[in-house]
Amino acid sequence: MTQAQPQLKTAETPEARVERLNAELKGKSAQDIIRAAVREFGDGLVYVSSFGAESAAMLGLIAEADPSLPIVFIDTGMHFQQTLDYRDELEERLGLTGLRTVYPVKEEVKELDPKGILHKSDTDLCCEVRKVRPLEPALEGFNAWITGRKRFHGMGRANLPIFEFREGRYKVNPLANWTQEDVTEWFATSDVPRHPLVADGYPSIGCWPCTARPADPNDVRSGRWAGQNKEECGLHVKRNERPRVF
Ligand code: SF4
Repeated sequence: MTQAQPQLKTAETPEARVERLNAELKGKSAQDIIRAAVREFGDGLVYVSSFGAESAAMLGLIAEADPSLPIVFIDTGMHFQQTLDYRDELEERLGLTGLRTVYPVKEEVKELDPKGILHKSDTDLCCEVRKVRPLEPALEGFNAWITGRKRFHGMGRANLPIFEFREGRYKVNPLANWTQEDVTEWFATSDVPRHPLVADGYPSIGCWPCTARPADPNDVRSGRWAGQNKEECGLHVKRNERPRVF
């Protein structure tokens, strides 16, 4: 009599994993999603933060879940001084021990933007040199990336899922469901300070040459690359869809 062989468990595909996680975490809080991501991806999980207008909410939630979680900040060389000071303040105040700052490759800046004025003629190339390229090596070894994107930011973010799989890496968007009111309420009920430029009329903050007060107060990102047909820096755009890959 032949003995029945145990059935081998087939490996879960990334698509199936995303589907399972989206089903398991449907309707759960941002904190539940972050804790689930920490359990699911372990040392493979990283958060990329701009330390912008809304970043402190995610940083505060991460500090509660795991203050040692790796956090990457890209210093483009074009940030407001207030952003750099805010990064330092939040790192200390929230006890974030996994923060690392990465910089553009010196040789690439020297070749493509030696005078620091590339943003005036080619914002896509400038973002590629100063933001996208520095992040590539910083993400090596991580298979899952937490982002602070929210659906209410509109445009390409309007249908953002909680978990997704893009270009070989999982993305976790714990605040995808949040509204502007949720952000306001989180800050109102926490003692974490807001970015100082928020009180000065900036609801979305990136590099200083490409950040203005929004013309449309209902479109928080309308002050980013104002007057240009550009919505994203490229960090969340597929490599083959980025306009100035090199
Ligand atoms: S946001 Fe502006 S200054 Fe910053 S990297 Fe992109 S184009 Fe350059």
